[in-house]
Amino acid sequence: MSIQVKNVTKLYRHQKALDNVSLTIEKGEIVGLLGPNGAGKSTLMKIITCYLPPTEGEAFVNEHNTATDSMAVRRVIGYLPENNPLYYDMYVKEFLDFMAGLHHLKDKKTRIDEMIALTGLKPEMHKRIGALSKGYKQRVGLAQALIHNPDVLIMDEPTSGLDPNQIVEIRELIRKIGSEKTVLLSTHIMQEVEALCSRVIIIDKGKIVADNKTENLRDLFFSSEIILVEFDQKVSKDAILTVKGVKNAISKLGNNWELEVVQTTDTRKELFDFAVRNNYKVLSLAKEKHSIEELFQQLTK
Ligand code: ADP
Ligand code: MG
Repeated sequence: MSIQVKNVTKLYRHQKALDNVSLTIEKGEIVGLLGPNGAGKSTLMKIITCYLPPTEGEAFVNEHNTATDSMAVRRVIGYLPENNPLYYDMYVKEFLDFMAGLHHLKDKKTRIDEMIALTGLKPEMHKRIGALSKGYKQRVGLAQALIHNPDVLIMDEPTSGLDPNQIVEIRELIRKIGSEKTVLLSTHIMQEVEALCSRVIIIDKGKIVADNKTENLRDLFFSSEIILVEFDQKVSKDAILTVKGVKNAISKLGNNWELEVVQTTDTRKELFDFAVRNNYKVLSLAKEKHSIEELFQQLTK
């Protein structure tokens, strides 16, 4: 496995930032570490990347122990820290050359050019880092994280603070990079996980509260589905609740209803028959999945 965390607890003085956390991530997985602010995401990443020692427990990257073999870990790991600290007075190429030097790369120039091409930095490569937009600064952060061609990439909130266009661009870049590496990224945005990750680990108050395939999570936690229906006239809640499979009905604008239904039957057919029986017309009918956002709120409230 690529990453293994075994019973890790981290105390900052008396405050427990991580509480007996264990996880394993296999080679090639793209895993989202999802949690509200203060959950312990950055702390966990700092332990995996050797920036902090655990108070208890152990972490391994490609079987190397982060506490006792940190040089080996750093060689196989690329890290984009939270808030992407960069040297603003350095030029893009100068900074990448500096980073390539730290990793003792042999053919620095070729590798820097490859990274500039990969991360789309070409139009900005002659600028000072401080003069770049946030999106381009993030590309520089990714280029430095990848310059030594690590197997494992750790990104702490890689799209936070970017505007919507920049978010889309950086996500595309992460997807491209993620196809050939093991990736762990943290975020407090649920849509980010859905957009990028095959698996999600939800962390809250230093504890893992869920760990599953992104597509399974909803089914695991919700035994119901949502149906949105619009009638051509006013229909009473009591009447709607008589429809087979409907557990709850919430009145929305106009004659729209949001229905919580059991997953086992297709309630859409029942609703249609119900409308015909009562001489209502169904103007629209749609099935909706519970959002992973609701799940997140449920798990971390
Ligand atoms: P997240 O990245 O999920 O927002 P962090 O790992 O940064 O969470 O923080 C987890 C908890 O540990 C928080 O309550 C935070 O205030 C605390 N914490 C983080 N870093 C330090 C530190 N250097 N000293 C003391 N407390 C810290
Ligand atoms: Mg953080």
